[in-house]
Amino acid sequence: MDPYAIGVDLGGTNLRIAAYAGGKGFLEVIELPTRLAEGRDRVVRDLCGAVKKLEKRYSGLYEMTGVGVGAPGPLELPDGIVRNPPNLPGWDGFRLREAVETGLGRTIELENDANMAALAEQKLGAGYSHGVESLCVLTLGTGVGNGLVIRGAIESGMSGMGGEAGHIVVNSAVDAPTCGCGGAGCLEQYASATAVMRLAKERMGELAPSSARALAGLARTGDPAAAGVFQAVGRSLAIALAGLINTLNLPLYLVGGGVSEAWDLFAPMMFSELRRLSYIYRLTEPADLYSSRFERHKTYIQRAELGSTAGLLGACVSAMGERKGVLVEMTVVAE
Ligand SMILES: [Zn+2]
Repeated sequence: MDPYAIGVDLGGTNLRIAAYAGGKGFLEVIELPTRLAEGRDRVVRDLCGAVKKLEKRYSGLYEMTGVGVGAPGPLELPDGIVRNPPNLPGWDGFRLREAVETGLGRTIELENDANMAALAEQKLGAGYSHGVESLCVLTLGTGVGNGLVIRGAIESGMSGMGGEAGHIVVNSAVDAPTCGCGGAGCLEQYASATAVMRLAKERMGELAPSSARALAGLARTGDPAAAGVFQAVGRSLAIALAGLINTLNLPLYLVGGGVSEAWDLFAPMMFSELRRLSYIYRLTEPADLYSSRFERHKTYIQRAELGSTAGLLGACVSAMGERKGVLVEMTVVAE
């Protein structure tokens, strides 16, 4: 029988559970609301119930390799203890691994959701397309997520709390905006969708559009205030990327999430600032920034390929870990 895995993407709003088989993509995706108001035990019961339902349906047809769960960070690993997550209020100190493993009667692969998304990009997305084993992903969504994959494996430090580049300080001025992490001037305060809307309000007041997409539309018509917001995004990304590039020297950095749809608006500033700020970037800049055929020993910064299912795919892929040989055979099939 062909192998399959079950992946879970536990978000603050939605709970997605998928069965995934190599070469076939998603066999089935179950999407439920995350019933935070009814308590964490309720959420874990919903999660385990959906996993068991998929297991019952597919285990006669395929051979199950495991269950992977991606959860919002910070997450203390390998113990799987949730640490004060902004997206799961009231879950601080919750022993998530223990609760899910008890509920399922089996061990699970558990990781920060942004790391799961990075793993999917490496195994099935941009990393796969370009034959790259190590990459770093910045996801510009409500916040700024970050995941790091080194030589095909997630790297999240001694206790799972690495990969928080969204909180690299890009503005150390005393009046820098405070951040949900307790710090101030973090990348998240300049490059997330939330930050883009705040910057628009600061620069345009009442004239600021009500969505990042509308703001991007306005910037494309040549509105200087709207364009300035995306230049601020590009500048802050360059500061964070300069630090990452100088530290890590990886072949590929990916920018994903909703704000990355405005790539055309922030990328020129991002690249020109990177040349100014990072000597490792200057030494390794490729002749063609957007080439699909990567030159050896060059630093590429491109858009992430997998979109909003990356975290769910990564959770599935993480549970096929024992069978590394089959990963390259996988293809992503639309839901
Ligand atoms: Zn922060």
